[in-house]
Amino acid sequence: MKKRIAAVFTGGTISMKVDERLAAAIPALSSEEIMSMVTNIDRVADVEVITFGSYPGPHMTPQHLWDLSELVSKLVSREDIDGIVITHGTDSLEETAYFLDLKINTPKPIVMVAAMRNSSELGYDGPSNLSSAICTATSEDAKNKGVLIVLNNEVNSAREATKSHTLSLDTFKSLEFGPLGIVDNDEVIFYRNITKHEHIDSDALVSEVDLIKTYVGIDSKYMEYAMSTGTKGFIIEAMGRGNVPPELVPGIQKALALNLPVVIVSRCPMGRVLDSYGYPGGGKDLRNMGAIFGGNLNGQKARIKLMLALGKTNNLNDIKSIFENGVYH
Ligand code: ASP
Repeated sequence: MKKRIAAVFTGGTISMKVDERLAAAIPALSSEEIMSMVTNIDRVADVEVITFGSYPGPHMTPQHLWDLSELVSKLVSREDIDGIVITHGTDSLEETAYFLDLKINTPKPIVMVAAMRNSSELGYDGPSNLSSAICTATSEDAKNKGVLIVLNNEVNSAREATKSHTLSLDTFKSLEFGPLGIVDNDEVIFYRNITKHEHIDSDALVSEVDLIKTYVGIDSKYMEYAMSTGTKGFIIEAMGRGNVPPELVPGIQKALALNLPVVIVSRCPMGRVLDSYGYPGGGKDLRNMGAIFGGNLNGQKARIKLMLALGKTNNLNDIKSIFENGVYH
């Protein structure tokens, strides 16, 4: 029997065309117009079209993410729906994808899809990507894999993949582990399983989490400012293995004294952080102070995780367990 797939449209380049007056792309196509370009899909699935919005990726907010998760939760609980496809702007797709991956606990496939070229450009990749995503959502093999990202005939895991190129159609990459599989001739073929799937049962996505990227000579001024304006926690994109310049240490110490979680990740695109260095600001120093280690998550995904963790608990030990259990011994 043909599967029934809900296709939720949120916006992004897949819904855009070039406005002549602006000479730049803006949202313009309706969900139905985009769907009508996906020819031949009724052989594969019955598609229910749902319009969530027409937001460019950078216009998505934590509230939008939350509302989208409520919509998707309702859809996965419907017996007649076998899988979900969600269109999204590529710019912030990985944050929404990872959020839904952590929040929604279902064996049903949830597949995020997008386009890098708008409908006014030669080689508009929206319809073919959408077709691949729908095929993926109908696959039995795509079950129990968390949220997936499908673009350019490649299937990636929401936890692993990042937007790696500003222009290339092949932008979503699991830099460390490679793709999960491919979509070839309307068939999804998995070569490996996901590395990890966690679920955080949380009541809120706490938006007041600040992400600080380190650089040569950074001091504590951004952390000080964030604390003076009511931040609830920090992600520090540290250098290398998880080390920061010593002038950032007073900010980290102050945050921890205020019982605010400080999660260390790396600004390197691959590899996890570890307490390998003992100098002031080194990973060992930060760990001894009580900073939490975020494994190999990038900054924007670690922020999503902390936002969701803070919706569940303010207890630093519990937040530490959410980040470190199964990752550090
Ligand atoms: N700037 C666009 C957006 O995120 C890029 C895209 O959709 O690919 O909405």
